[in-house]
Amino acid sequence: QQKRYVGLRDMPATSDDGKTVSLVMNAGLMADLPSLESSGAEGVGLFRTELQFLIRTNVPKREELAALYSRVMDAAGGKRVVFRTLDIGSDKVLPYMKPQDEPNPALGWRAIRVGLDRPGVMRMQLQALIRAAAGRNLSVMFPFIAQFDEFSEARALFYSQLEREEKLGHVMPKTVEVGAMLETPSLAFAPRQFFEEADFISIGGNDLKQFFFAADRENERVRRRYDTLNTSFLNLVDMIVQRCGEAETPLSFCGEDAGRPVEAVCFAALGMRTLSMRPASVGPVKHLIRRTDLGELREVMDTARRSGLQSVREPVMQYLFRRED
Ligand code: PEP
Ligand code: MG
Repeated sequence: QQKRYVGLRDMPATSDDGKTVSLVMNAGLMADLPSLESSGAEGVGLFRTELQFLIRTNVPKREELAALYSRVMDAAGGKRVVFRTLDIGSDKVLPYMKPQDEPNPALGWRAIRVGLDRPGVMRMQLQALIRAAAGRNLSVMFPFIAQFDEFSEARALFYSQLEREEKLGHVMPKTVEVGAMLETPSLAFAPRQFFEEADFISIGGNDLKQFFFAADRENERVRRRYDTLNTSFLNLVDMIVQRCGEAETPLSFCGEDAGRPVEAVCFAALGMRTLSMRPASVGPVKHLIRRTDLGELREVMDTARRSGLQSVREPVMQYLFRRED
């Protein structure tokens, strides 16, 4: 299966009408890094740092984390790696964290909410990232931001750690960028200033979809009920693309849907220029992007949206099949 795409590894994901999409990968452990080379991904668009915490029985120490992050950056060999700060709670429970008795953990005390309320671990993690970067580019992304002030607070925490590390005499990163994950619908409607303040934004489609349709991503009975190509969801994605465009803020999509070729070309047709996916998806997504005229696909999608269809999937599939002939 993967062999089919080997020849594409070093080719760009440029569509038939000349639009280039950057395909990057999701990772979480050192063991994922070799896939960067084999898949042809241009970088790591989402490094889920909580995986390292989940596989242990105690909280890792700052120096251990710094060493790990440094090895990740070494292995990436200069390609961009976006480190997402700890995203715990809900489906990701740390063995050494007191279980929270919450009626709705997905809506509960998780991710950035824990990070801001109990900043000790997040501070330590940010220090480790800053030390690991030493002279290199550092990209940090905060998960589960629901409103502008959560992002400002997290960003300020990052910059205060940067100042601290500098005072302590550590080598500063060459560049820093601080981004937000957009995975709650509320953030899509945040003030313009949020879109300007974020250095980049990444749509966490898994959570964004769960909250948009009020359908638990863990619940087999409902999780596939709503199509990602549902026109309401595409209207939301479209709006996010527009708002990021107006603020000139780079946007990516890093949920599982970015790795599904049909969904991926539809996002690209809406103007998304970076997609982050599991490494095995890079080949198939690139293959389809290269065969697709994104401008034409956009017209097919717009016509379907105007006609009142619930999902654009049918007409999109017909269009894609027609082109295969
Ligand atoms: C997401 O929510 O889409 C995402 C990428 O993060 P996670 O799946 O780790 O929640
Ligand atoms: Mg998420």
